[in-house]
Amino acid sequence: AKEKGKNNYQFYTDDLNEKATRKFQIENALRKAIDNGEFLLYYQPQIDLQSNRLVGLEALLRWQSPFGMVQPNEFIPIAEETGLILPIGEWVLDEACRQLKEWERLGFPLIKVSVNASARQFRDPNFSRKVDGILKKHQVDTRFFEIEITESVMFDVEEASQLMEELRKLGIKIAIDDFGAGFSSLTVIKNISIDTLKIDKSLIDDIIGNHRNLAILSAIIQVGKNLQTEVVAEGIETKEQMELLKSFNVTGQGYYFSKPALPEQFEKEWQQEKVW
Ligand code: C2E
Ligand code: CA
Ligand code: CA
Ligand code: CA
Repeated sequence: AKEKGKNNYQFYTDDLNEKATRKFQIENALRKAIDNGEFLLYYQPQIDLQSNRLVGLEALLRWQSPFGMVQPNEFIPIAEETGLILPIGEWVLDEACRQLKEWERLGFPLIKVSVNASARQFRDPNFSRKVDGILKKHQVDTRFFEIEITESVMFDVEEASQLMEELRKLGIKIAIDDFGAGFSSLTVIKNISIDTLKIDKSLIDDIIGNHRNLAILSAIIQVGKNLQTEVVAEGIETKEQMELLKSFNVTGQGYYFSKPALPEQFEKEWQQEKVW
C-alpha cells in the first residue's frame, strides 16, 4: 500500500510538472502569436429556425501554434491571466471587422457577425474607445456587429451598465453569452439592456424527454422574449433538439447546422446559394 501511495504521488507531481511546462510553453508562444500571424477566425452559423435562414455568424478564435492547434479553452484562460487577451482581443475585433467588410465588398447580403470579448477586455477603461476606433477604421455598418460577453462582466453592476451603454451608443449589439450556465444570469438582464440572449448548451443538452429541463428552458426563452431580445439556443446537435426549439421560435446554433468553419466555406456555399 505504501509503495502504491508513493507511486501515486510520483504520478501526481509528474502531471503537475507537465501541466506547468505546457502552460509556460503556451504563454511564451502566445506572446509571439499575433506577430507570427498564427491566429485565425472560424465562423459558426446562426440560423433562424422558422425560415431556415442564416442570420448571423459567430467568430471563434483558432491558434495554429508552433506545436500544433491549441483550443481556445486552453489558451484563452492563459491569455486572460497574463493580460495577453488585450492585444489578442483587439486582433479578433480588427479581423472580424475586416472580414465583415470583405463580405460586403464581395456583394454578400449583410448578416450579423458576433465576436467574443472576455471580462478582462471589457473592464479595460479604453475598451469602447478601442472598439469605436476599429469600427471606424473599417467603416463597418455597426448594426451588423455584435459583442458577446458573459455574466462575469458584472463585477460592479453600475460600472458594467455604464460600459455597456457606451458600447451600445456605438450602434453595435450586445449579447449575453452562456446564459443560464452561471449563478447570476438574471442579475445581468435585470440591470442592463441587451440585444441577444445566448442560452448555454448545458440547458439545451437534456431537453428531450426531461420535463424539468424543458420547463426551465421554456421559462428562460420567455424571459428573453418578454425583454424583446433575440434568443439564440447554443449547441444544438440533434434533429430532435432542433425541432423542439423550432416550436419556440428562436435562433439556433450548433453542430447540427455546422461546425465553425473558415470564411471561404461560407463564400462557396453562398455562391452555390446554399446559405443566405
Ligand atoms: P463560446 O463563446 O460559448 O463558444 C461556443 C463553443 O461551443 C465553441 O467552442 C464552439 O465551437 C462550440 N460549439 C458550437 N456548437 C457546438 C455543438 O453543437 N456541440 C459542441 N459540443 N460544441 C459546440 P470553441 O470555438 O472551442 O470556443 C470555446 C470558448 O472559447 C468559447 O465559448 C469562448 O468562451 C472562448 N473563445 C473563443 N473565441 C474567442 C475569442 O475570440 N475571444 C474570447 N475572449 N474568447 C473566445
Ligand atoms: Ca460566444
Ligand atoms: Ca456560449
Ligand atoms: Ca462558453
